Amino acid sequence: MGSAADWLREERRKTLGDWVAFCKACGHGQRYFVEIEADLESACPTCGEQLLFRCPSCEARISSMFAVACEECEAPLRASEQFGSPIRRPKPGRR
Ligand SMILES: [Zn+2]
Ligand SMILES: [Zn+2]
Repeated sequence: MGSAADWLREERRKTLGDWVAFCKACGHGQRYFVEIEADLESACPTCGEQLLFRCPSCEARISSMFAVACEECEAPLRASEQFGSPIRRPKPGRR
């Protein structure tokens, strides 16, 4: 069968990349393809810290932008309290 929605979802996934790298310091995340992994900047474009491309424990790739633990070995990928707190700051009360 295969619905149009599934096709679209797969197409979008291909456009953005199959895998995710993210910054442990500021939470910046980006998708990438395996083919361009060697050409990617390893530093975060936002804060300059090193991006995490793979699990530091088993080197499995990361497939979710919101992963807090490795899907393969469950090693923590970043501090979960950062994930739990809102990244957006409340605007100062200025009008
Ligand atoms: Zn960063
Ligand atoms: Zn792992």
